[in-house]
Amino acid sequence: MAVPQMSALNIPVTPENYAIWYQYYSETNLDLKRAIDGLLANKVEFTASVNQGLYNNFINDQSPEVIENVQIETQILINSLVSKINDLSSGTSNFSSSLSSFSDELQSDPSPQSFNKMLVNVSAEVEKVLFHNELMRADIDTLGSELVTLKEEMVNLSKVAMTDELTSLNNRRAYEIFALEQVNLFTQNHVPCCLLMVDIDHFKNFNDTYGHLIGDKVLAFVAFALKQTVKGNDFVARYGGEEFVVLLPNTDLEDALTVAEHIRERIAGKQLTIGKEKKQQLGNITVSVGAACIQPGDDVETLLTRADDMLYQAKSNGRNCVKG
Ligand code: GH3
Ligand code: MG
Ligand code: MG
Repeated sequence: MAVPQMSALNIPVTPENYAIWYQYYSETNLDLKRAIDGLLANKVEFTASVNQGLYNNFINDQSPEVIENVQIETQILINSLVSKINDLSSGTSNFSSSLSSFSDELQSDPSPQSFNKMLVNVSAEVEKVLFHNELMRADIDTLGSELVTLKEEMVNLSKVAMTDELTSLNNRRAYEIFALEQVNLFTQNHVPCCLLMVDIDHFKNFNDTYGHLIGDKVLAFVAFALKQTVKGNDFVARYGGEEFVVLLPNTDLEDALTVAEHIRERIAGKQLTIGKEKKQQLGNITVSVGAACIQPGDDVETLLTRADDMLYQAKSNGRNCVKG
């Protein structure tokens, strides 16, 4: 009696609330009963604070036996819910055992009467299974849509965790995972793979001249230029600050240097402007690129160090150039 009433009144079935309504129906606590009857008569909503008030005023100072009773009742309630859930899943297996018992009956008494009786019974069983299935489907549908949402959230979260917010490129974490895969592939199958480190030249000066916001736009432009220059299987990421990395699977050093040179040319060749009518000229920016290929014994770190050494040489060589 307590639970349907609670659900009709939108009261969550917590042990505390259940204790209130258990006592209300067991009529062992007349003060509580009067209080609740008053609330019901006045159509007062059973909000969290009303429920809390009832519990504090009428239950909390009860004798331990009453509380124990409620605990036992709660346990019974939980058990009955669990058995209902079990019923749901056993609905279909009951059906197949009923069917086989019908078939036994038919063999022992193959008369038209017994056949008729069986038809009635089978159709009743079919009704039961349909009903069970309907209930089960509703439950599974809810669970299914919750799972879909959860999955979408997880996919979304992992995308966010792997993406650089400013440029929408892969971030350093994503790079490290991809680089490890490439190193492992090389170790297993000797599939060549090269790494380019791309660093914007004198970017500090640029920021100092035009401000960080325009600097950020330039980072987005470089990201776009990188994406435009490489092919589908290549992997571009923002390593941090004004540094980018490009992994070129199935590519030897000679081809990697060609790709690097295309990247350098594309960026250096672009006249940067800003504003609606592109009035403000920003001139052009350049990048330096260091290239290295995975070698036997490499790990992610040694590969990056070699590309970084090459980048340092490109910087020493006057910038706006490629070394590998
Ligand atoms: P170099 O040619 O030797 O690479 O000189 P540089 O000025 O590019 O190198 P440095 O390492 O001295 O400075 C990097 C600058 O990149 C510092 C900072 O102003 C800029 N920078 C790093 N991250 C960001 C960012 O997220 N947004 C903007 N706008 N600027 C950034
Ligand atoms: Mg730089
Ligand atoms: Mg740098």
